[in-house]
Amino acid sequence: MHNITKLFDLIFYGLFPKTCVHCDSLLKEGEEILCFKCQFTIISYPFSWGISDENYITNKLHFRMPLKKAASFFVFENTSAVQSLIHNLKYKGNQNIGKWITDFYLDHDKQPFFEDLDVMIPVPLHSKRYKERGYNQVDVLCNSIANVTKIKYDTSAVRRVKYTTSQTKKTREQRLKSMEEVFAIPTQESIIDKNILIVDDVLTTGATLESLGNTLLENGAKSISILTIAVKM
Ligand SMILES: [Zn+2]
Repeated sequence: MHNITKLFDLIFYGLFPKTCVHCDSLLKEGEEILCFKCQFTIISYPFSWGISDENYITNKLHFRMPLKKAASFFVFENTSAVQSLIHNLKYKGNQNIGKWITDFYLDHDKQPFFEDLDVMIPVPLHSKRYKERGYNQVDVLCNSIANVTKIKYDTSAVRRVKYTTSQTKKTREQRLKSMEEVFAIPTQESIIDKNILIVDDVLTTGATLESLGNTLLENGAKSISILTIAVKM
């Protein structure tokens, strides 16, 4: 049986060789998603998940929304391997990247971060965008985290009711205006008095997270924490 599986793998791999999402070189044995050379270039978020109640993200969002704690897996830089990871996860349907991040980067040191949190909520996509993409880019990541940490993942607690375009080129005032009433809470029961962890792919301006976090707090959430795959610093 084992040999047949191996033979199948060999044929399948021969027909559809897997390549590194960043440099496009053929992946060798043991390599997944990225070749080891590209994986070594990844910059981890330079703050400990253990002192997650005060770091770059909490400071960035200070005065905009009260945060219990925040962490990120990586630092986002243009043309980096992390940018390729996010691009493939978001636009090329490569959802395995979410599982890969959990397998490689959610080690024991990071797991206490989740202990006093009740529920994970993704930044929801507008139904129009969800239809285009077919999935939320953090779904597989969150389900993998839920498997490891036992924290609940709730995809229906919040709805995105307003379609928005990219926030990065807008002024702070334009961003605040466009992010008004973007999110709605169908039933307060699922969030009331809960310590909520919002999960997003990349933190850039923070406008989306600010809007979602404040909507949750206004509707009775006990606290907001943030976890991102990567942060632009
Ligand atoms: Zn590579």
